[in-house]
This record gives sequence, structure tokens and C-alpha cells, in this order.
Amino acid sequence: MRIVFIGPPGAGKGTQAERIVKTYGIAHLSTGDMLRAARAAQTEIGKKADVYMSAGQLVPDDIIIALIAERLQQPDCRAGYLLDGFPRTIAQAEALDQMLAQQGTPLNCVLELRVPEDELFRRLAGRGRADDDPEVIRQRLVAYRQQTEPLLEYYSRCGLLRSVDGVGSVDEVFSRVAAALDQVGK
Ligand code: AMP
Repeated sequence: MRIVFIGPPGAGKGTQAERIVKTYGIAHLSTGDMLRAARAAQTEIGKKADVYMSAGQLVPDDIIIALIAERLQQPDCRAGYLLDGFPRTIAQAEALDQMLAQQGTPLNCVLELRVPEDELFRRLAGRGRADDDPEVIRQRLVAYRQQTEPLLEYYSRCGLLRSVDGVGSVDEVFSRVAAALDQVGK
């Protein structure tokens, strides 16, 4: 199963993503994790990305698209994968469509985790990561609204979008997620 996982920062995507990949036996592809690893290793990509990440802005599309194109070639992706935090712009979504069409492996589902904004702010403020400073949080929410939310319309038009309520305990939310994914099948 090939899934795109969309949701604002603080929606609980990371926690749900871990449960999804375990339950469905698929690879977890988090561009945020990849970038944090690149930043920690001080690679060229990591150094470039750091400037944007520290400001709560999106890293330029060309960097991200190259990163994910390479990752999708790894053998563990053959069993399926969950794209967590990618695509985040229409340009990224179009690039992904093109890559997958070339490989003959289209997406099965786009899962949206919905959480109201005041709740997001509360959760993010309690988290304490370096990019969780209030101004950076605000900027990340703005980036989500302006650049990522248009993807919901994009994927809804091709009938791939499934939206799940992200408010509740981890177990409650996961059972909604699993119900949505089981409908899609494998
Ligand atoms: P995340 O852990 O997914 O919230 O990502 C952390 C940060 O990495 C984001 O705030 C962006 O600066 C950057 N990032 C992660 N994924 C992407 C992406 N698909 N496009 C652009 N920037 C990204």
C-alpha cells in the first residue's frame, strides 16, 4: 500500500505514522526525519535545509524532490510506504505523480489528519523541539495553510483523499485511521 499522510504540524502524524507502518508492514518515509538526520550529519543538503527549518519555512522543492526520488528507489519501498510530511506543495505532488506514473505504482490513498488550530498550538507549545519556538510554530502553521492545504483539494479531485479526525487518544485516532485504510484495501 502506498499512502501519503497529510496533516498540520502538531497533529500527531509522527505517532500515528509509527503505528501505521507497523500494522501494515510498510516503510516509513519522513522527509522531516531525513532532513534532521542530514542536518545532524552536516551534509550539504543538511546545511542548506537548516536555514529554512530553523525559520519554520519549507525547504525548496528541488532539494526535497531529489531526496525522495532517491529514497523511493530503495528496496524496502517495494512492499509499500507511508509518505509522512511529503508532498507539502503542489509542485512536490506533481513531481511525485510523475515519478509514480513512470514506475507504474500509483498512490492508493491520501490520509488527512484533521486537528483544529487552537489545539495544534497548544500541543506544539508543549513539545520543546528546537523549531517549536512560538514564532517558528506560527510560521510552520502559516506554511501549512498556504502551501500544503491546497493539496487536499488536489487529492480530493482524483478521489484519493480520506480525512480522519485527529482529536482523541492515540488509540482512538488510530482506530479511525485503520478503519479508513481498511476501506482502501491492499
Ligand atoms: P516535519 O518533521 O515533517 O514537520 O518537518 C520539519 C521541517 O522540515 C519542516 O518545517 C520543513 O522546514 C522541512 N520539511 C520537511 N518535509 C518537507 C517537505 N516535503 N517540503 C519542504 N520542507 C520540508
